[in-house]
Amino acid sequence: MSVRERDANQRDEDFARQASALAREARRAGNHPFGAVLVLDGAAVLTAANTVTTGRDPTAHAETNLVADAIRRALVTRARAPRPARLPDSVP
Ligand SMILES: [Zn+2]
Repeated sequence: MSVRERDANQRDEDFARQASALAREARRAGNHPFGAVLVLDGAAVLTAANTVTTGRDPTAHAETNLVADAIRRALVTRARAPRPARLPDSVP
């Protein structure tokens, strides 16, 4: 195994440990023990935990919470982006 592969494996293990820590936090809070970590270009960019019980939401799995957070952040970023003063006339 190359140094590069070993480093990548180490990072993957770190992300898995991070997800496990989130799962433990979820369980301590009274939820199901699941955590999710979104990794982009080798870095953890978003994390979430299961909140099914405390949120009284059967869809609030760690991964769905993570995706919902990503969508919220994308919408906020889009809403804050500069826009043209008015749409071109060619747009229906
Ligand atoms: Zn799930």
